[in-house]
Amino acid sequence: MEKFVDVILPLPLAACFTYALPALLADGVEEGCRVVVPFGRKKYYTGIVRCVHALKPAAYEVKEVLTVLDAHPILLPSQFKFWEWLAGYYLCTTGDVYKAALPSGLKLESETVVALNPDYEAEERLPEREAKLLDLLSAETEQTVTRLEKDSGLKNVLPVVNALLERGAIFVKEELKRVYKPKTETRVRLTPDARNEHRLHIFFDDLQRRAPKQLDLLMKYLELSGCLGGDERPVSKRDLLQRTGASAAVFNGLVERGVFEVYRAEVGRLDARQPASALEPPHPLSVPQQRAHDEIASAFRTKNVCLLYGVTSSGKTEIYIHLIQEALEQGRQVLYLLPEIALTAQITERLRRVFGDRLGVYHSKFPDAERVEIWQRQLSDRPYEVILGVRSSVFLPFRRLGLVIVDEEHETTYKQQDPAPRYHARNAAIVLASMHGAKTLLGTATPSLESWHNAETGKYARVDLQERHRAVCLPEIIPVDIRELIRKKRMNGSFSPLLLQHVRQALERKEQVILFQNRRGFAPMVECHTCGWVPKCKNCDVSLTYHKGLGLLTCHYCGYTEPVPRRCPACEGTDLRPHGLGTEKVEDEVRTLFPEARVARMDLDTTRTRAAYERIIDDFQEGRTDVLIGTQMVSKGLDFDRVSVVGILNADTLMNYPDFRAYERAFQLMAQVAGRAGRRDTRGRVILQTKSIDHPLVAQVMANDYEGMAAGQLAERQAFHYPPFYRLVYVFLKHRREDVLEQMAQEMAARLRAVFAQRVLGPDKPPVARIQMLFIRKIVLKVETQAPVARVRSLLTDVQRAVQEDTRFKGGIVYYDVDPV
Ligand code: ADP
Ligand code: ZN
Ligand code: ZN
Repeated sequence: MEKFVDVILPLPLAACFTYALPALLADGVEEGCRVVVPFGRKKYYTGIVRCVHALKPAAYEVKEVLTVLDAHPILLPSQFKFWEWLAGYYLCTTGDVYKAALPSGLKLESETVVALNPDYEAEERLPEREAKLLDLLSAETEQTVTRLEKDSGLKNVLPVVNALLERGAIFVKEELKRVYKPKTETRVRLTPDARNEHRLHIFFDDLQRRAPKQLDLLMKYLELSGCLGGDERPVSKRDLLQRTGASAAVFNGLVERGVFEVYRAEVGRLDARQPASALEPPHPLSVPQQRAHDEIASAFRTKNVCLLYGVTSSGKTEIYIHLIQEALEQGRQVLYLLPEIALTAQITERLRRVFGDRLGVYHSKFPDAERVEIWQRQLSDRPYEVILGVRSSVFLPFRRLGLVIVDEEHETTYKQQDPAPRYHARNAAIVLASMHGAKTLLGTATPSLESWHNAETGKYARVDLQERHRAVCLPEIIPVDIRELIRKKRMNGSFSPLLLQHVRQALERKEQVILFQNRRGFAPMVECHTCGWVPKCKNCDVSLTYHKGLGLLTCHYCGYTEPVPRRCPACEGTDLRPHGLGTEKVEDEVRTLFPEARVARMDLDTTRTRAAYERIIDDFQEGRTDVLIGTQMVSKGLDFDRVSVVGILNADTLMNYPDFRAYERAFQLMAQVAGRAGRRDTRGRVILQTKSIDHPLVAQVMANDYEGMAAGQLAERQAFHYPPFYRLVYVFLKHRREDVLEQMAQEMAARLRAVFAQRVLGPDKPPVARIQMLFIRKIVLKVETQAPVARVRSLLTDVQRAVQEDTRFKGGIVYYDVDPV
């Protein structure tokens, strides 16, 4: 009987596509295996088998599966369920989810660009087809799969590329070039001859007289390998030479003498550096921490989700570590989620010390090959028991998930903005946990109003931890009215006299300073001082951001870049000046005001790579810099000891942002930034500069009154029909032509009103109304939180279909953002 498979393709298709399985491939194809299939003209994709069946589709001519890539499924049944929930809730397709879920190396397609791994050494003769591709790649080290297919003259080249990937001979090209670690390393061991203790003694005596350096090296080897103690560990040549500072000549001497021999061995790129013997037990919990821990454990007996509301530095992480250990003792797995920017070497090391090689780290800034390896390992019978990861780690396969921790749960970066699926990792994690019968712990000092509300209404449990560890005081917050100071011309650039004084004192006492400058919505620009002209992006409806260091103007939406013009194109004037308050400007000011201070800046521009980010943090931590200037990045749960002063340069840009979450967000940011001050023995000071000193938020931040803020905001949200009382869905429409778009948006809104009545607002022009040549309109839909998601979805898709089938609106794009942040 003929067999067919329904396949999920990495494309925004509404449904699975059906392909025929050639008889040769029919055996052993299971749900969750990858197959290579043709789609469209001359394009090949890696698809995932959703099901195998015998129903021949009547509506179209079925094409055949070209190859099956996996002998065993790479996607578990529970993951399909999770994908389908995501697509349903976030109004996108399972193809969108597939694209977000799998590392690139697992979803090759014709357009994929692959690159040669320069460190690859073949261990055996490669099959002819693979060798041919490698030859082509040696001549030109980066090529698309399509191009390789054409130039090699081979048919069905995707599986060959896949085989090369698995060997580590090539890798999927990613945007940023990263160092690719070789898969094998040179190791050293004693020759069988030298393993004999008697012979070793003779070597010792000989070396002592004739080659003391070789003796040192040998001793170090014995120490590192532990081979005399019977518990032998592999030693890499590089590591040995680095630790001893010995030269290659000394090393070779020992090889020639017949003491050492070298061999090559495969290393997992994920090798934990910590041998099991060096693991440390978790710190014992303090009395308040133990109480919180016990309350969480008992809350989990009746509730699936618990909110741990604990001030910064109260030791939430220590509590997590204990809970993780208990979950592992019960044979369950743990997923520990952190916002991208908070996942640093600091936290990894803390967990590594306790969990050693039971811990896997999944980060979007790690090479793709590493992510593939983690994925494969989670499918094996020896998966990591603890995964520390960012947003996308909710997609990893889990078989025994018992606990999910979402740290800094209020962080808006948990929400994916673009492209679809526009999912919220915290909410997705809660659903994932419940599918596994696991519990979820949300931790933060400043809960999102959604989670707070869920705790207030009893949907979640809540546990409070309001003592800082070792009774470190919360900082003193001093507001400064800069409106007055500006009027009296008493400001020094961005600095009030009081802030200047505190920074100066801190520097004199060799303490550190953090200066926080929010830039959101107020990017620095260049302005013509004569006529007011401001350079704008050619493709988008935004002014270009000025990067002084590079002398360039850049669009933060599409990346368009041009040099700063010499003359104003409007009036020919030459007086073009930077305008607006960016971190770069603050950095300049600090360098002028405190020439002796060592200054670092942390924002999106200085932290493009993970290494750059870690270096800035490390330098500050180790006291190699005195002043750290940054955007919200500096608020992210970093643990610094010597910070005595935090300056919030301009609170108003936070408070006045035109968004219903601005108030909540401003409180969270300021409270988190303030939490960086005075963590160990001194009481820190926070200087909060604002033009609206009477704003109620200022008093709430000063009193660290989260609960007052939450109560006030929740009342407002309820009155004006906002989350968490209503669910928001943004409907976005895009088109190349503004007139067509306007008509289309009106039509869509009218049809939506016919269904959802007064729950529909708009269409409106969003603040940025054109991106990458496409004009944009936005319609807002507010539905009651209790309304069934499936019903809302089907009503929406009916309207969308009707609009998109209208020939007047050809080329129009419609997409959704559910629960936007
Ligand atoms: P939070 O996650 O709430 O900000 P952390 O867990 O990072 O707090 O704790 C703050 C600091 O106090 C860390 O340096 C941590 O190592 C230390 N600390 C917290 N609890 C303990 C404990 N029980 N024993 C030893 N050190 C602790
Ligand atoms: Zn001008
Ligand atoms: Zn642009």
